[in-house]
Amino acid sequence: MLPEKTLAWGLSRSCIRELAEYGAGRKKEIGAENVFDFSLGNPSVPSPAVVDQSILDLIRDNIANEEAKASGKAAPAEGFGGSIHGYTTAAGIMSLRQKIADDLNSRFGLNINPGLIYVTCGAAASLTISLKAVLLPDDEVITVAPFFPEYRVFTEGQGGRLVVVPAADDFMIDLDAFAAALTDKTRAVIINSPNNPSGAVLSEACVKGMTDLLKAHEAKTGRTIYLISDEPYREIVYDGVKNPCLLNYYDDAIMCYSFSKSLSVPGERIGYIAVSDKMTDAANVYASIMGAGRCLGYVNPPALFQRVIERSIGQTADITEYKTNRDLLCAGLKELGYEYVEPQGAFYLFVKALEPDAKAFSDRAKAHELLLVPSDDFGCTGYVRLSYCIDKHVIERSMPAFKALMEEYRA
Ligand code: PLP
Repeated sequence: MLPEKTLAWGLSRSCIRELAEYGAGRKKEIGAENVFDFSLGNPSVPSPAVVDQSILDLIRDNIANEEAKASGKAAPAEGFGGSIHGYTTAAGIMSLRQKIADDLNSRFGLNINPGLIYVTCGAAASLTISLKAVLLPDDEVITVAPFFPEYRVFTEGQGGRLVVVPAADDFMIDLDAFAAALTDKTRAVIINSPNNPSGAVLSEACVKGMTDLLKAHEAKTGRTIYLISDEPYREIVYDGVKNPCLLNYYDDAIMCYSFSKSLSVPGERIGYIAVSDKMTDAANVYASIMGAGRCLGYVNPPALFQRVIERSIGQTADITEYKTNRDLLCAGLKELGYEYVEPQGAFYLFVKALEPDAKAFSDRAKAHELLLVPSDDFGCTGYVRLSYCIDKHVIERSMPAFKALMEEYRA
C-alpha cells in the first residue's frame, strides 16, 4: 500500500514534458529543423558572463586553497569551515542573504534584513516551503487561472486545497470572482506575475483591488491570509511596463523568487524566499519556513551556486532576445488571424485554439509539426501555450505551418 496522492502524481504525465519528449523523438526522425517546438520554458539565452566566470574563479581559488591547506599555509577556515563544497547554514550564506536584501530594498523600497531571507533550490522549493510553513490541514489556497500546473501538487502536497478563480478576458484578476472565492478557510493566495502561461503582468489597479479585498477579508474573519508572490519572471518584462512589487501593497506577503529564468540557470536550482518585514508575526513565519525547509529535507541550497549568485546579484541574461521573439511571433500569428492578448512579460504566448477542445487542436497542430501545449493543465480550456524562448529562426520557419493549420480549420 502506497500513499494514493504521491503515487498518482508520480504516475501522471505532465503534458508539457510529454509533448517535449514527443518533439525530441520527432526531431530524430525528421530532423530538428523540421519540428517547431514551442513546448518547454527552458531559457534560450546564455547566462551573463559573470555566472560562468564566477564558477571558474571559485574553483580556481578553491584548488589553490586546498593546496595551501595541504602545505599547512592556509589561513584557518571562517564560519562553517570546510571547502566551497561544504555545508552552508540552512537558510543560505549570510553575505548572500545580505546582498539579496540590499538588492530588494534598493529596487523596491523595502526594509528587509537578511534574517527574513531564506535561500532555496528555485521557485518550486520556495513555493512548497512557504505553503508548508503557513498551511493548516484543509486550508484553502486561491490561485487565478491560467496558472502554473504544479501549484495543485505543491498545495495538495502540503495538505491544502487549491481553489481556482478564472481570470478576466485580459488575464487580469476578475475581482468579483476573486471576492466570491474568499472563505473562512482561505489561508493563502498564490499570484504569478509576469504569468506563465499568459505572459500577463498585473496592473497596479488590479493588485490594489486584490489586496484591498484580502485586507477586508482579514479584518472581517480575523484570519491571516498569506499572499504568496511567485515571481520567477520578475525581470522579464517588455516595453517598460510597470510590474508592481506585491510586498508594497500587502503586509502578510511572501516573495518566492528564482534565478532560473533571469540568469538562465534553471538546472542549478537556486532562488529565495523573502518574508515581508511588515508581516504580522514575521519572525515566527520565518521560523516556520526554516522548520518547513528542514521537514522537506532541504539542508541548504547548492553551496557553489550560492557563491556564484552572490557575485551575480543585479545582473540578468540578455532578455532583449525574448522581446524580439515575442514581436516576431505576435506579428506573424496576428497576420494569419490567430487571437491572443499580447504578453507583457515572461516568454509565453497564450493563443486561442481554433476549436473549443485545446487538446484536439494541439493534436491537429502536431500533424504540422507544431508543438503547442493545450491549456487544460493550466486550469482553463480553449487555448494553447507557446514558449518562445527558442531560436528566432524556428519562429520564422514555423509560419507556413501555422498558415496551413489555420487554412485547414477555415476549410
Ligand atoms: N513558478 C512558475 C510560474 C514557473 O513557470 C516555474 C518554472 O517554470 C516555477 C515556478 C518553478 O521554477 P524553478 O525552476 O525555479 O523551480
